[in-house]
Amino acid sequence: MATYVIGFPRIGEQRELKKALESYWAGKSSKEDLQKTASELRIRHWVYQKNAGIDLISINDFSFYDNMLDMSVILNAIPENYKDIENCMDRYFAMARGDKTHKALEMTKWFNTNYHYIVPEINANMDFKVDITKIKEEYNEIKTLGITPKVNLIGPVTFVKLSKVDGDEYEVIEKLIPVYEELIKEIKALDSNLVIQFDEPYFVTNPTKKDLEILKKVYERIGKGNFVATYFEHSNEANEVLATTPIEGMFLDFVHGSENSIKTLIESGKKVGIGIVNGRNVWVNDIEKSVAFLKGLAEGYDKNNILVGSSCSLLHVPYTLKYETKMDEDIKSWISYALEKLDEIRVIDKLFRDEALSEYEKEVFEGNKEAIATRKTSSKIHDPVVQDRVSNLTEKDKHRSVPFEERIKLQHENLKYPILPTTTIGSFPQTPELRKLRRDYKNGVISEEEYKTKIKEMIKDCVEFQEQIGLDVLVHGEFERNDMVEYFGEQLSGVAFSQNGWVQSYGSRCVKPPLIYGDVSRPKDMTVEWITYAQSLTEKPMKGMLTGPVTMLNWSFVRDDQDKRVTAYQMAIAIRDEVEALEAAGIKVIQVDEAALREGYPLRNEKRKDYEDWAITSFRITTSSVKPETQIHTHMCYSEFSDIMDAIEDMDADVISIENARSDNSLLKIFKERGYKGEIGPGVYDIHSPRIPSKEEIVEQIKAILEVLPKEKVWINPDCGLKTRKWEEVRPSLKNMVDATIEVRKSL
Ligand code: GLN
Ligand code: ZN
Repeated sequence: MATYVIGFPRIGEQRELKKALESYWAGKSSKEDLQKTASELRIRHWVYQKNAGIDLISINDFSFYDNMLDMSVILNAIPENYKDIENCMDRYFAMARGDKTHKALEMTKWFNTNYHYIVPEINANMDFKVDITKIKEEYNEIKTLGITPKVNLIGPVTFVKLSKVDGDEYEVIEKLIPVYEELIKEIKALDSNLVIQFDEPYFVTNPTKKDLEILKKVYERIGKGNFVATYFEHSNEANEVLATTPIEGMFLDFVHGSENSIKTLIESGKKVGIGIVNGRNVWVNDIEKSVAFLKGLAEGYDKNNILVGSSCSLLHVPYTLKYETKMDEDIKSWISYALEKLDEIRVIDKLFRDEALSEYEKEVFEGNKEAIATRKTSSKIHDPVVQDRVSNLTEKDKHRSVPFEERIKLQHENLKYPILPTTTIGSFPQTPELRKLRRDYKNGVISEEEYKTKIKEMIKDCVEFQEQIGLDVLVHGEFERNDMVEYFGEQLSGVAFSQNGWVQSYGSRCVKPPLIYGDVSRPKDMTVEWITYAQSLTEKPMKGMLTGPVTMLNWSFVRDDQDKRVTAYQMAIAIRDEVEALEAAGIKVIQVDEAALREGYPLRNEKRKDYEDWAITSFRITTSSVKPETQIHTHMCYSEFSDIMDAIEDMDADVISIENARSDNSLLKIFKERGYKGEIGPGVYDIHSPRIPSKEEIVEQIKAILEVLPKEKVWINPDCGLKTRKWEEVRPSLKNMVDATIEVRKSL
């Protein structure tokens, strides 16, 4: 037992599971078809791992939707309102995504990844009992391959901590201990050699004393012979506690949690898995460096107690480079997906133990050394001009020339918008015809000229519509964009795209993050033509629309060969170039979206300051060089600000629009209590729903906002962009929004 992976992706290298799920949901295939695809995928993935020489291969890392949801089923933690559904698969999917009569459970981000889990709803009075159907099925399958697997389970503390708990969390955890004991008994009855991996990543987030007490209590009872895995950060407090329990060992993240200490664990006779191959990013491992690191770490200890593996589940990276037939050969040589990472794990492990490499492994190792070497010097990566621009940044680049109080006056003179100005967040509906148009252009079916003419027609219609209903600050509609990150990524130097780099985001949904592989710059204008065209159609201010540097980074695979701060500043300068070009072309309002600022926050409190510092500075680099009378907007699609208000203020935007329609204005109170200096556009209606809000309800919503915020500071806009909506919904909704605003204005 020497190598392991925390878990393997399940969606399939050609997204087979996605297709099977969607076809089943659409009623086009049967439960049996779906089960068959699932089984084939599991077998394929186990065989991959077995052939790659991985010793500890997981079962129950597979899921039709999500492992937290699976855990609810295993523990029979089924909320009352789904109990009327007899068939277990129907019930499972009802909890995951709702059905005609049931709402779905909530979904939220899995720590600071872009994977979303289903939030269980639990309480201490639930009829917890064990259901090992899924585990047994997978066990029987893997047995046919002659593999004795490890069984992945979400540990009780993390399970409860990440759930919506009615009542006392610790009481629920206590109640679950005997249920987990029974679960272990039933698993070991399948095969007494099975090892269990309890995932407890909750412990990487500054646990309290009480958390650590319950951790000890839990693993005194269920730890014997089993492993506990943490990831995404170090878990030093938990490592110390678990060393005193009867666990077999821990799997630790040494990529994102390099501060992890193994001393107490090892000295207590525990095994420790060193997760050194990054499960969250795609760059090749520096094998020589990893081996040296492991040897240093192991000095004085028995190497047999040290295992080598992935930092976290490989779920967060794509499958295999096999399908990347169009990627630049150099870039391709610098990255590895899940399958290539399996090879890295084995080669590192063998070199660490001074075992001889096979011919194939030697090739892997040689290729790796070469990739590491070329990456250090390649002109595709290193651009001295960009590097100079970052080194030459001064304080002046990070601050607007005039304080807010002064510049806002100039902006009012410059823009002449009324009280309670109305605007939108940027995108307008992305219709099937529009998607086809972009596809046709991309595939060379239509010429650039034809494409541009069509997009401009859409912009024109969109601007006319906005004028007609009387919006104050207009947008061009973002018709040329498929995605707010991809659109810019495609035009920036230093950013590449994969063909098949799909990563599961939630359920059957996958995303293909851009690869920021080199020094980033903007060779030419990215949006100026569209936005100046839109401005030429109206006397009203046209808002330029850009994606901010932090969001660009947080939704990409970011290079690991330089400080993230440097990459962020490069991105910030590249986008600043576009801001300046827009301003020079006569655009007076520019919105820089930072939809992903919040999710990039580190999991450890002590690291938040550093993140805020580079993230907020990056935003300011992007937005500070404009004239005082040019107005900078930013937008964020969430309503949780209480703990990041200092950072938000520090961004020094003139106007911020935020999601608000579904919250009770408590968030606005936070802005008020602090005396937030900028202007604020709290969303007045929810764009996630097809429902058309009436004028009356928007009037009420605006009045409620004005109870909290001074009218001089308030903008009126929807919660977010309108790209997922239909024109039939958008037209009346926005008209009602403007009419409601006019009515409220009269009463002021
Ligand atoms: N400007 C973008 C839009 O309207 C913002 C999207 C977002 O915040 N997610 O689509
Ligand atoms: Zn948004």
